[in-house]
This record gives sequence, C-alpha cells and structure tokens, in this order.
Amino acid sequence: MYCAHCGFPLQEGMNFCPKCGNPAAVGAAPPAIAQASPPVYPEAGRGALILILGILALLMLGPFSGIPAWVMGAKDMKKIDQGRIAPAERTMTQVGMILGIVGTVLGLLVLGIIVVTLLLVFGILTSVAGFTNAAAVILPVCAGIGTRR
Ligand SMILES: [Zn+2]
Repeated sequence: MYCAHCGFPLQEGMNFCPKCGNPAAVGAAPPAIAQASPPVYPEAGRGALILILGILALLMLGPFSGIPAWVMGAKDMKKIDQGRIAPAERTMTQVGMILGIVGTVLGLLVLGIIVVTLLLVFGILTSVAGFTNAAAVILPVCAGIGTRR
C-alpha cells in the first residue's frame, strides 16, 4: 500500500504518511510519475529532402540540386545547433550537405570540361571551315585561270 499523495510505501495501521504528513488515504499503486515529455522543436528538419538533393547532385544534377542541398543544409545545421530542429536530423542533414557540395564541385568540373571540349571542337571546326572557305575561294580562281589558258 502506498500514500495517495506522494507514493511513499505505507505499512498497515499508519494514520499519517511519514514522508508527506498527509492523512494516510491509501492508494492502490504509487501515483504515476509525470513522464518527461519529449523535447519540442519549433521547426521540422529537412534532413531527408537535403539528403535526396545531395544524392541527386552527386549522381547527375550537380549544382542544380547541389547548391540547394548546400544552402538548406548549412541553414538547418545552424538551427540544429541552436536547438530549433531535432538533433536526430543532424546526420542526414550533414551527409546531404556534403554530398551537395561534392556534387556541385564535380558538376561544375564536368560542365567546365564540356565547355572546354566544345570550344576545342568548335575551334577545330572553325579552322577546318576556314580551310574549306579558302579552298572554295582559291579553287574557282585556279579553275578560272585554267579556263583562260
Ligand atoms: Zn505521503
């Protein structure tokens, strides 16, 4: 048997609870201890979204999803540090942000390589076209000289 006020175990025949001094109104079980409510965070984490954006950045989208993952990840990491977002979001947010940064850098490198390649190809084509044009001008002249003879 327990005190109905404080849950202190009572022995038979006690009129007052030795702990809290209240009359020994006997309860069947100790009063439910108020359970620590889980902490409430004012903002929802976006870890899953950031992680998906980071993976897409790494796989194909480069800066197009990498920069949003990077920016959102940096913002949310700050909010997690401030306790505004649940710490459970930290891993996904951090990994997503890192993938976003890597995807952005790799994407820009690939874009750079494509641009340089296009410029080189264009340059080669231009010089080929230059020869072709020169030939187009020179050959008829030669032909004209030929027919005059
Ligand atoms: Zn008591």
